Amino acid sequence: MAEQGGEPFLRIEHVSKSFGTFKAVVDVSLTVGKGEIFSLLGGSGCGKTTLLRMLAGFEEPTAGRIFLDGRDMAGVPPWDRPVHMMFQSYAIFPHMTVEANVGYGLKHEKGLSKAARAARVAEMLDLVQLTPFAHRRPHQISGGQRQRVALARALARQPKLLLLDEPLAALDKKLREHTQFELMSIQQRTGVTFIVVTHDQEEAMTLSDRIAVMDRGEVKQIGSPNEIYEFPNSRFVADFIGSINTFEAKVLARQEQFLRLAVPALGSEVLARDVPGVSEGQGVTLAIRPEKLRIAKDRPEGANVLAGQVKDLAYFGKDSLYRIGLAGGGLIQAHAVNARRGDEGSRVADWDDAVWLSFDPAAALVLVE
Ligand code: ATP
Repeated sequence: MAEQGGEPFLRIEHVSKSFGTFKAVVDVSLTVGKGEIFSLLGGSGCGKTTLLRMLAGFEEPTAGRIFLDGRDMAGVPPWDRPVHMMFQSYAIFPHMTVEANVGYGLKHEKGLSKAARAARVAEMLDLVQLTPFAHRRPHQISGGQRQRVALARALARQPKLLLLDEPLAALDKKLREHTQFELMSIQQRTGVTFIVVTHDQEEAMTLSDRIAVMDRGEVKQIGSPNEIYEFPNSRFVADFIGSINTFEAKVLARQEQFLRLAVPALGSEVLARDVPGVSEGQGVTLAIRPEKLRIAKDRPEGANVLAGQVKDLAYFGKDSLYRIGLAGGGLIQAHAVNARRGDEGSRVADWDDAVWLSFDPAAALVLVE
């Protein structure tokens, strides 16, 4: 969890990194609290690994400063930083036992006796629940267990900050979900600050206290998973996290605490959540998450009611996804939980059905960027 007040554990101030004329990281500023799990999330090539490498000391920033635990990291070599990096490939040694792999980084730790080293290894094996596998070699354990060997080895050095580059990328989907929770529990037990690089938004949402969403070297938004999902600050973030319907719109007026918008594709005016800085006549984007839409056979009361027809649907068991054609010619996706009848008839609507869609003005987002 983020610490309350005081100096943040990690402070990145206006950090940029260029390779020749190419700007890999552009003016990034952020802080991370002690004991936080903070994710850098973005597509391939957005600069997240470069940012991580600057924290580890493998790259020096072209501009800006990094403070760790109050200390300026400029010119501090990787081995002199209280930071450890766990690489995507795990880099565990195939010819060594699990135990030897975990203890490897402790060999040259000054002032650590043989007995103290053995005790630390045992403690780490216990932490990641690999004690019974201590004498096996990497090919004799599963992918998920190998991931835990790498984690135990990284934590054995007792870093204050652990950097994890795509920690779960090598695992299949089922195992990844399970391992996410394990990783969170291990982080909680050690209290070590984790910075995780991932391109997987579900992984970032599950693991993180906070997320920085990156695009082309820039941080677009920083917030808790909930903030980023509910209140994306741009089309990029809205599209990147989950799925969302977006429509071009024009601001007509402010109406009480809402904005009245003209939305040609919907064939209707709608009320949406107000945002500071927009003015009447301005072109904006209206964004609505599919699960915020209600589907009904009978016309509901209230604002934001649209007439439509089901063009397509996908039945997923517990819920269904509908593509609904609207009077203005637009298509909108709506996600609805199926009734608890247990047969396919439990869907709210069927192909070609005429339906009414409605949504709360508070669930309709206005995006300017
Ligand atoms: P991925 O998820 O694919 O690893 P990423 O977000 O981690 O992507 P980075 O590895 O940080 O991206 O790379 C950002 C950009 O900087 C990429 O376009 C990459 O080609 C470029 N880049 C990274 N390192 C170097 C380097 N040493 N020299 C030149 N360009 C580099």
